[in-house]
This record gives sequence, C-alpha cells and structure tokens, in this order.
Amino acid sequence: MTKKELALEVIERLKREYPDAGCTLDYDDAWKLLVSVRLAAQCTDERVNIIVQDLYKYYPDLNSLAEADVEDIERIVRPCGLGKSKARDISACMKVLRDEYNGKVPDDFNLLLKLPGVGRKSANLIMGDVFGKPAIVTDTHCIRLVNRIGLVDGIKEPKKVEMALWDIIPPEEGSDFCHRLVFHGRDVCTARTKPYCDKCCLEDICAKAGI
Ligand code: SF4
Repeated sequence: MTKKELALEVIERLKREYPDAGCTLDYDDAWKLLVSVRLAAQCTDERVNIIVQDLYKYYPDLNSLAEADVEDIERIVRPCGLGKSKARDISACMKVLRDEYNGKVPDDFNLLLKLPGVGRKSANLIMGDVFGKPAIVTDTHCIRLVNRIGLVDGIKEPKKVEMALWDIIPPEEGSDFCHRLVFHGRDVCTARTKPYCDKCCLEDICAKAGI
C-alpha cells in the first residue's frame, strides 16, 4: 500500500469511528478561537474552555479585550500556564485585528501567520474550522499518530509533518482528519500509556512504528 492509499484508508476508517469529530475548543466567533488556540499551548482544551468563560465575562468583545491591560489578562489566563507570554500575545493580536483588520480575522493563511502569537498550527486551525478551507493541524496527537501509523517516517518537526501530509492527504479532508486524530489519540493511540492496538480500528494497516 502506498502512503496515499494508506492515508485514504485511515481517513475512511476514522470517519466511521468518529463521525462528528470537530474542534474541541469552544468558540462562537473567529477571534475567540484565536484566543483559545494561543491559550491551548501546553494546556488542555478542557481547561482553556473554562478559563475563556472568565475572560469573556470581563471582556465580551474584541475591542474590550484589545483595550484591556496585559496584566489583567494575565491574571485571568495564568491557570493555562505561560500566562505572561500568552497575555502579551493575545493583547497584541487583538490590537492588530482592531487596528488593521477592522475587527475581523483575515481568511488568508499568510496574514494569519503575521498575527502576534499565531503559528502554522493556529493559522491552519483557523483556516479549516472558521473558513472551511484546506488545513493540516499538526498538534502533538497528529504528529505521534501519523508516525506510528506510518503515514510519515520518523518526522517530528511540525512543519515537516505538515508538508509531508499535504502530499498524501486530499486537501478537503485535512481539517476533519486532524480533528479525528486528536480523538483517536486521546481514546486509543494514547501518549502516556501503551496504545490500545487491540481495540484500534487501524490495527491491521498500522505500522505501529516506535511502539
Ligand atoms: S494500531 Fe496501535 S499504534 Fe496503530 S494507530 Fe492503533 S493504537 Fe495507534
């Protein structure tokens, strides 16, 4: 089986396994997803979903968050870890959106990448989830699973994994595929325990590399 054929088979099986898998960060506006994805670095999505409720109690819209003192943002987001840099990035990002984009999140990957605190992972997430465009989100689950499955061979650097996946994943499938990898990575192909290969829907086609 070529890597492309393997990718298509994995995509189909994960679709059956997790038909409704979507983004696990809660948001009802594009700028809120930008805030959440910055907070999610080295923090669980569950915790982020709780902390942002606090944040939006004080700053319910983009303008109020752009005007907030960085120290006040930091006090609220501190439980997510890296409070100082996350608060600084969120504040700077909201100011740029307010001042340069009329309060709207741009639907252009390269413009997103220029926003403070926004890297390829975040920009891809926004492109896929907010704008429904092709996207490959290489988070920790994605990188671990595509290596184990054999879709990439020993690549750990997020951008390199992303580029390798663009070669074998149909663009329109990328965003949902990555969300499903997160679900599979949490439930079955786990990081902290031995993966549960005996109950995995990919067991007969997975390379089980490195386990
Ligand atoms: S067979 Fe094992 S290593 Fe492969 S994806 Fe499933 S749980 Fe992970």
